[in-house]
Parts: sequence; C-alpha cells; structure tokens
Amino acid sequence: MTAFGSVFMPEMALTEFDGEKWGDHKLVPSDSLTLHPGAHVLHYASTCFEGLKAFRHPDGSVKIFRMDDNIARFAQSTELLALPAIDPAQTRDMILQVVERFASQAPEAPGSLYIRPTHIGTEPAIGKAAAPSLTSCQYVLVSPVGDYFAGGSDTTLRLLLEENGMRCAPHMGRIKSGGNYASALQPIMKAKRDLKVDQVLFCPNGDVQETGAANFLLIDGNTLITKALDDSFLHGITRNSLLTIARDMGLNVEERDLSVTELLERSRKPGCEAALSGTAAVLTPVGTLLHNGTEYQVGDGQAGTTTAKLRQALNHIQWGLAEDTHGWLTSI
Ligand SMILES: *Cc1c(COP(=O)(O)O)cnc(C)c1O
Repeated sequence: MTAFGSVFMPEMALTEFDGEKWGDHKLVPSDSLTLHPGAHVLHYASTCFEGLKAFRHPDGSVKIFRMDDNIARFAQSTELLALPAIDPAQTRDMILQVVERFASQAPEAPGSLYIRPTHIGTEPAIGKAAAPSLTSCQYVLVSPVGDYFAGGSDTTLRLLLEENGMRCAPHMGRIKSGGNYASALQPIMKAKRDLKVDQVLFCPNGDVQETGAANFLLIDGNTLITKALDDSFLHGITRNSLLTIARDMGLNVEERDLSVTELLERSRKPGCEAALSGTAAVLTPVGTLLHNGTEYQVGDGQAGTTTAKLRQALNHIQWGLAEDTHGWLTSI
C-alpha cells in the first residue's frame, strides 16, 4: 500500500490574490505550481493548510465531514499568519468543485477522499522578513486514502512524554502552519530512533498538550479528560466531534489542564484508556507511556473499549451508517 497522502488526483482547485482581490478559481493540473524562488512562503513560512475528508455512503453519494469548521479554522490560521484574508464562500466552492470533479473516484469506507486546502504567501520579496506577503495563492488538493487501521485497530501506540521541549512556539500552537511541523521534527526523529516510540506527547513544564499532529484524550472510567482550548495547541475538529459524541453517550467530559503526574497516576488504573485524535488517525489507542526512562502501561496496555466505541460512533456518522444528528455532513 502507498503511504498516506502520496497519491494525488490529477487536478486541483486554485485561486490567486493579486494584492487587491481573489481571482476566479479554476481546476488546474495538480503536479506543478509556478512560484518565484524569492516567494515569501519559501523564506518566511507564510503557509497554512487544512485536512478534511469526503466519504462515500452506501447509497453512492459522497459527503464532506465538517467542511465549514475546517474553513473557519483555515480563515483563522490565515489571519494569524497575516496572509491575505480568504473568502470562506470561495474556499467552500473550491472544495466542492474539486471533490465533485473526483467524486466517482472517492474510495468506499473505510477509505475516503482526503482534502488538503493550502494557502501560501507568493510575493517575491526577501526583504519582507518582518512584513506580510501582499499576494498569495490558495489551492485544494485531493488524495484518495485507504484504511488507516489496515494494520489492525488493536495495535496500540507507544508515546514519549516530553517535558523539556515544546512542539512549537506557544503562541503558534493553534495555527495549522508548516513551520510548526518543521520545529517538532528533530525531537520526534530522535525519540523514534533512540527510544523506539511512535510519537512524542509534548508536555512542556508538565502540561500535557498534544503530539506532532494529533490531540490527546485520556479516558478514566466514565470520565474523558483533555486539555481545554488555548493558543498553545491545535484545536482538532476530530477532538471536538469526539467530545460531542462522548457527551451524547453520557460520558463526563472534562476540558482542563492535565499534568504529567495526574496522567501517570490515572493511567495505572485498570480500565484507563488513552488515545490520539485527528482526521487521519480518527482515534488511535495509546498503550504505553515512556517518562524519564520508565515505561508505564495505560490500563492493561491494550486498545480500550470506550476508545473503540467512540471511534465507531464517529465512523458510523462519517460513513452514513448512523444519523448525522449534529449536521456535520455536506452533500456535494
Ligand atoms: C491537524 C492537527 C490535529 C488534528 O486536527 P483535526 O481537525 O482533528 O484533524 C491535531 N494536532 C495538530 C498539530 C494538527 O496539525
């Protein structure tokens, strides 16, 4: 199987901001982009993106999950990076245009069509290290993806609890921007190589935040604990969906700070569960935490039953097997 996100449909939707207005968007070949080598994005990382999915339902229709929430986050990332403001209605049209174009090739569940809106500063101006790009380009790529759990949904992840480093600058955490991933790369590579972990859970000064590209949830009996929204981490739409479903199921959801000490104490208890949430991973169980050279099992170290229930409830809405009671799906 090819790696997640490495196959692209041959066309993308694209529009350019010329300094005053957005041009008409259109479908263009997706294998190249013309950029001046001095483009702002290439030097000063004026770039943000989104990740969302379209699902094929049993009746053959294709629906996009929480599109408007992703567009709202895209608009916010754009604003926080001082890129030219997007027109959310246009971005919506671009997503619908490219998904419609390739709807017939959207895989059946558990596969999906992954959608990647991107916004970059294009002004050729290397003197603008401390000034925004006046021109920009927005494009929407689509990529058919298979089942993330093809290896089996029962395997659990091994995470390093990292208290000394942080994923990115604290005021940048909620921006879905390229530089944040670059900044987390060396600590993640080092932990994977030296400690054979799957991911790093960043916990600066003992504050449990998130991994390189997914949010962290702790489930202790009937209580689900996850960090309350602040500027320091990415506000996952999967996280928000799962908290909503958890409340619907009668779980007690606590959005608050979680310390490493409390996390390690709780995870010792039988029946405790931990998981990572995100569009790609949905909800992936965590079995082991590594902290200062000691390994801690979460519960019995196996995939938890509440984790499986939450993931299935979310998948069933996405796949059209359960009623979309929160109005999360958009028809194309
Ligand atoms: C995209 C992302 C997430 C998950 O967000 P979703 O909207 O659930 O896909 C979490 N953390 C980081 C750093 C991310 O980039």
